[in-house]
Amino acid sequence: DPVILWFRRDLRLSDQHALVAAAGEGPVVPVYVLDDETAKHRKMGGASRWWLHHSLKSLDKSLREKGSRLILRRGKSEDELAKVAKDVGAGRVHCVRHYEPWWRNAERAIAKSLDLVCHDGNYLTPPGSVTTGSGDPYKIYTPFWRALKEVMPPADPLNRPREIAAPSKWPTSDDLDDWDLLPTKPNWATGFEPVWTPGEDGARNRIDNFLNRASDYEGRRDLPSEEGTSRLSPHLHFGEVSPSFVWHRTADAGGSVWTFLGELAWRDYAQNVILQFPEYPSKNARERFDDFEWRDFRSSAVRGEYRAWTKGRTGYPIVDAGMRQLWATGWMHNRVRMIAASFLIKHLLIDWREGEQWFWDTLVDADYASNGCNWQWVAGTGIDSNMFGRIMAPLKQSEKFDAAAYIREWVPELGHLPDGAIHDPEAAGCRPHDYPAKLIGHREARERALAANDKIR
Ligand code: FAD
Repeated sequence: DPVILWFRRDLRLSDQHALVAAAGEGPVVPVYVLDDETAKHRKMGGASRWWLHHSLKSLDKSLREKGSRLILRRGKSEDELAKVAKDVGAGRVHCVRHYEPWWRNAERAIAKSLDLVCHDGNYLTPPGSVTTGSGDPYKIYTPFWRALKEVMPPADPLNRPREIAAPSKWPTSDDLDDWDLLPTKPNWATGFEPVWTPGEDGARNRIDNFLNRASDYEGRRDLPSEEGTSRLSPHLHFGEVSPSFVWHRTADAGGSVWTFLGELAWRDYAQNVILQFPEYPSKNARERFDDFEWRDFRSSAVRGEYRAWTKGRTGYPIVDAGMRQLWATGWMHNRVRMIAASFLIKHLLIDWREGEQWFWDTLVDADYASNGCNWQWVAGTGIDSNMFGRIMAPLKQSEKFDAAAYIREWVPELGHLPDGAIHDPEAAGCRPHDYPAKLIGHREARERALAANDKIR
């Protein structure tokens, strides 16, 4: 009998434990289900859908080179898998285990009617497996990272199966183009295309390209004007490359590559947090923040400021550059993500969950665990966060991390300003008329935020 290989965020053929297991058993029916019902309000955002379209296309092409193909279905995963199983006479489904709460529920439901076999492989180590001496999961990153380093498995000999046997008859499949995953009018993704190549080959190229720079990661990763980081996040999110492969391919680079591996471990850490607190991306971990007086999001003035933030028109060049890079390319530099997120939360005093939602819709790497954990981290509401009262100064950050070239690239109306004026054109007395004044001054914003924080202490 054929077996089903159920793809989700594991869109690769290399180091794919579910594929290796399925291919070892007989004919394989690879299936991807576009399932907005199971995820409900957590269904994929717009930028992720753009990525998904191209990634599925690439996966289908790779499968066809091995005599197989990708069957596309739309609907509730549970129902669609049952239908495919019936069509082809399969009883078993192999998949890579997922940890988002809706996927865990779906896995439980599917296992009631089909023989569902879940495999690891989307994290460095299986979430939940790195524990303290007394067997408890870690809540804080640093000890988690120390422990993970100790148990990190050696390089995995798994690779692509040479052949994937086809079933005697293929079930019907949707046409990818009918899913409307790509934007039409307006096509906001024109800036994505020159930057990204979704799929396994694109991921490999990113890694090879990063190898030359990996040893110098520490010195350059915080400089948004340079390409100091790997830009692997969407490839990792969609599982186009296994994190274990990234680890073993880069670990010998020397220099400060361990700082990079530590970031890779943040991804694992975030998933461990979700395992302990499934609602983390929408609930303050420090509960006293439930009483925090965020500005009223129903007020049109507050919404106007939020819109200015989303559009990159806050009057803070570093924030605006980041928000425009996000809109244009579906990605933002990590240092700038921290600055832009902190600005929304502490300068505009808008609930971090509004920002989390915007990122969810606009990032090509939007990830339930990583996005939720990082927003709570910046907000100071998380289990492992700084205090709320530590407020980032965006203009100082911009100077310190040498963001002038980055601002020139993304905020062209400031392109003519010299380095000395570009971080804060208003203070330098040379704000161009087509660039907005600051929504609020830094000192005023800081005092307002600290006062709000004092009320809940
Ligand atoms: P590199 O510096 O090359 O790091 C390598 C890999 O490590 C990344 O690809 C990523 O998978 C992982 N990583 C690095 N930093 C982090 C981190 N802080 N937390 C978790 N994983 C990390 N990352 C996402 O993948 N998805 C998100 O939705 C997301 N939302 C974020 C929201 C905010 C407010 C902030 C401050 C950060 C967020 N990050 C998110 C983390 C980080 O900004 C990105 O992972 C990173 O910028 C991706 O670029 P890179 O691949 O070049 O990273």
